[in-house]
Amino acid sequence: GIGTGAGHLLAEAIKRPVEFLIPPVVPPEDYSPGTATWYNTVCNQCSAGCGISVRIREGRAKKIEGNPVHPVNQGRLCARGQAGLNALYNPDRIRSPLKRVGERGDGAFAAISWDEALTEVASRLARLKIDDQASRIQLLTGHVRGHLDALFQQFITLLGSDRYAQHDFTYPANLKLANRLSFGIEHLPYYDIANSDYLLSFGADYLGTWLSPVHFSLGYGQLRQGRDRRGKCVQIEPRMSLSGANADEWISAVPGSEGALALGIARILVAQETYTGTDRDTWRRALEAYSLDRVSAASGVEPERIEQLAAAFGGSKAGLAIAGGAAAAGTNAVASLVAVNVLNHLAGNLGQPGGIIFNGAPAFGSATRHAGLTQMTEIAVAMQEGAIEVLLLHDTNPVYALPDASGFADAMATVPTVVAMSSFMDETTALADLILPTDTYLEAWGDDAPEPGVGLPVASISQPVVARAYDTRSVGDIVLSLARQIGFELPAAMPWSSTEEFIKDGWRKVYEDLDPQAGGTDFEKFWVTTLEAGVWGQADALAESGDALQPSLIPGIDDVSASFAGDAGEFPFILHPYLSATLLDGRGANLPWLQELPDQLTSVVYGSWVELNPTTAGELGIRDSDLIEIESPAGIIRAPAFLFPAIEPGVVAMPFGQGHS
Ligand code: SF4
Repeated sequence: GIGTGAGHLLAEAIKRPVEFLIPPVVPPEDYSPGTATWYNTVCNQCSAGCGISVRIREGRAKKIEGNPVHPVNQGRLCARGQAGLNALYNPDRIRSPLKRVGERGDGAFAAISWDEALTEVASRLARLKIDDQASRIQLLTGHVRGHLDALFQQFITLLGSDRYAQHDFTYPANLKLANRLSFGIEHLPYYDIANSDYLLSFGADYLGTWLSPVHFSLGYGQLRQGRDRRGKCVQIEPRMSLSGANADEWISAVPGSEGALALGIARILVAQETYTGTDRDTWRRALEAYSLDRVSAASGVEPERIEQLAAAFGGSKAGLAIAGGAAAAGTNAVASLVAVNVLNHLAGNLGQPGGIIFNGAPAFGSATRHAGLTQMTEIAVAMQEGAIEVLLLHDTNPVYALPDASGFADAMATVPTVVAMSSFMDETTALADLILPTDTYLEAWGDDAPEPGVGLPVASISQPVVARAYDTRSVGDIVLSLARQIGFELPAAMPWSSTEEFIKDGWRKVYEDLDPQAGGTDFEKFWVTTLEAGVWGQADALAESGDALQPSLIPGIDDVSASFAGDAGEFPFILHPYLSATLLDGRGANLPWLQELPDQLTSVVYGSWVELNPTTAGELGIRDSDLIEIESPAGIIRAPAFLFPAIEPGVVAMPFGQGHS
């Protein structure tokens, strides 16, 4: 019959390699058929540093949950955290060391042994060191915190280079700079949303993608329902985010006008004597320029609405202003963020419940090696000029994340040796000469001190929860192996036999510093307890107190208006790209669960889209799902139109995340 014939043909057509199911001959020590074991470790799907508990059965990771005792996420987890299993068991993982055999970038690689791969990299690095050329080695990683960051730094310094940079599109560099200018403290403070009465957010999608969304979602729940008085949330942004959709009021404002709007509100607070500090007159003069008319014209927000906002924010017991998204990304981002800090200062919420509480310094390793677009362009120029001989990459994908105009991919092509320590064949890894496949975070040792903290220093140990799935190694083990093979002073200075030993040694120092009298005698107990709990906190650590924000800052941030690329006549619309709540900046795009998860605002799955206000679309004759082109001085992208009423007319929005090659 037809069915049989078709079945036969199909079976003939699909030739799969034979696979064997092999039971573990020597089972892991925790292998107990039918019994689940939970291990605590740290989520690495974004920089929030949530604690996770992973359920293991028969040696396989089955489910990830939030670690209930971790103060950042308190047992909760976001979709990206859940999708960690997709990273671990992803069929596209790089399964063994690879060496390029074709032209760079054409994707032809041959599998080689770890011995061959490490020897080749180590001898290349050693040669440069012998020739006094080690300063031509560039290490470029993603956002790495904790002791691993110190290991990278030590490795590159001992080699004789100072070229170590971290590139992560989501790193809050502008916020840190604005906080340093405002309060003299760069590490992120604790934004006490849970105890705020009135949360005024300038574009910060705290429920979706801003800094620590699981923790802030918990805070939001507390603000709404966790106490006798219900707090109010107002969201000001050009395109409605998840936080905007959950706010009491959503106010559409022109992108880049957030700083002016904040200073306009600040001016009213001072004029109406909501702010009663002794320097009120100085503040009044400093804010004079931000009249209601000027601010309204810049932002597109009605003057009455601005007055209402000022009255409600100033009149609340615990008003808190935060900023992110478009407000933290434009040419005027630092000025805008300082302006929002001014609101917090005038509201008197610094160091107060429901306001901005300054965290103590992170327990260890607050990374300061962030390379933004400017620094990455400098690295690209250095590569073009032949100043970089070896490029070592780990967990960063600048070829995808940076605009073509940065010239990064072209510059990479001129570097004689590119080595990628990577789990996946992303756009940057595909341009490497040698690929050293790395463990995922569920297979490796590490640690983390999350930022923003939770008001006290908190740190977690990351431990392997399953045996590694493929012939991969942790990046720490790769660095230590290279150090041993390179020789010189490296083996003595980096004596650890494994990442586990290195991390444990780092924690021993933390422990000894905490209680020098004990002399580290109880360290083993401390280590095991922390591993089991998945987190350690220093409850008695004092929070820092920031400097008072000075009115003299205002003239210094005079350029509070944003500028946009291209002539406004030729390019009349403003593009508002935003982080995807699922794919984030694109790092989650290879995880099926995240691709299948509908976007919370548009319900779109897979693929990308361009959001337009129906009025704008009507004027342009664009209908829903039409394939449209967006052109800027930097290039052209093509995607289907999505008519979205909650977007400022004249603004075109698009999520990051898709468009991988
Ligand atoms: S916010 Fe989500 S992705 Fe980020 S660390 Fe927490 S659980 Fe992981």
